[in-house]
Amino acid sequence: MHTTILQKEDPEIAALIEKEAVRQNEGFEMIPSESYASEAVLEANGSILNNKYAENYPGRRYYGGCVNVDAIERLCQKRAREVFHAEDYHVNVQPYSGSPANLAVYIGLLQLGDTIMALRLDHGGHLTHGNPMNLSAKAFKIVPYEVDAKSETLDYDAIAKIAAEHKPKLIISGFTSYPRVIDFKKFHDIAKSVGAISMADISHISALVIGGVHPSPFPFTDVVTTTTHKTLRGPRGAMIFCKQGYKEQIDKGVFPGMQGGPHEHTIAAIAVALKEAKTPTFKAYAEQIIKNSHALAETLISEGLKLISGGTDNHLLMVDMRPFGPGRGIFIEKALEAAEISVNKQPIPNDPAPPYYPSGVRIGTPVLTARGMKEDEMRKAGKLIAKIFHAFSAAELPEDKTLRAQAVKDFVATLDAHPLIAEVKQQVKDIALQFPVPGM
Ligand SMILES: *Cc1c(COP(=O)(O)O)cnc(C)c1O
Repeated sequence: MHTTILQKEDPEIAALIEKEAVRQNEGFEMIPSESYASEAVLEANGSILNNKYAENYPGRRYYGGCVNVDAIERLCQKRAREVFHAEDYHVNVQPYSGSPANLAVYIGLLQLGDTIMALRLDHGGHLTHGNPMNLSAKAFKIVPYEVDAKSETLDYDAIAKIAAEHKPKLIISGFTSYPRVIDFKKFHDIAKSVGAISMADISHISALVIGGVHPSPFPFTDVVTTTTHKTLRGPRGAMIFCKQGYKEQIDKGVFPGMQGGPHEHTIAAIAVALKEAKTPTFKAYAEQIIKNSHALAETLISEGLKLISGGTDNHLLMVDMRPFGPGRGIFIEKALEAAEISVNKQPIPNDPAPPYYPSGVRIGTPVLTARGMKEDEMRKAGKLIAKIFHAFSAAELPEDKTLRAQAVKDFVATLDAHPLIAEVKQQVKDIALQFPVPGM
């Protein structure tokens, strides 16, 4: 094999990257917030643009020599507006990632202590939507809303009631672990009825919005944030769209409010990803994500598993493990990992167990869809996943907190020798290798 410069300069890191490439290629990545970036995206992201400082915005930088990065950033903004049909919006493409993007919105638009209304994390909201551990909750007053206890879906009347009572300055929609369609128009109308700014965080579903398989928050939502590295398949970064009236506040919120020099290599790579997102191939990918989720959900249900809200409309689904016993998500995450299927344990609405040992498992289809897998492979994957659930859900989480970490360790130690793990792992590899990861 051809020796790369990195292999020569730093064989230790090169070897670890190579091992990760093998892991990504031979296993099933089913974490819904992941997908594969193209080789072109990775090339731009790893380019010499990394060397450039460019604080502030195109045409008014604090550094010289910005002529090329100005052109790149402007092109990225243009493509962002086009791909989302958000021509009337301003877009800031500088946020380092989704979390700083959201904090920049709060800093730009609100005063410290103002009230933000958002979905609780254990009901599907993001950390930066006011989780007590996050700066958002330390700097602002958070009024949470929840999903309905019975349907496990959003109850817009209940949300409107909470908004009327608390009169928040900002209402956030768009989530991290919500398997159903979001009615952004209803959220916007609720916000307007109480004089609040509407914000949609479409980090997870941006590709679905672009592909026309999820309703768009444009052209009415006041502020829209999105990461660029999830379903969108760009580099790790984020964008903030806002109506023109908020342009200055948002730009100041990002720089100098939250960040210093923008990552122009990332911005170039975002631009490449946005160009790819305009193609028919990308639309087909977005459509296939949903078809694959449906096939996977149907298989899991027919294999006896219970899903939060009873199914999915998007790229992810949540297995409710309460029928097996609370707090067992971690055992399934570990067992699936041993079989080279990556998922993550996740709190479910009204979870009887603590966040680190939740009773849910979140599974997504974007990565396997990006590899070219279709419904048939999803049904096979679903059967393998269900086997693991049924074989390993008897593992109990100890009541005594101090014994939990050891219980998980003891459990993991049994996995390598387990015949079912070996069997599933081999089948996963056989399927995975028929669908090479782009660029590997
Ligand atoms: C992933 C995510 C973020 C944060 O993105 P990072 O890049 O991990 O900081 C913000 N909001 C939502 C809804 C997300 O799913």
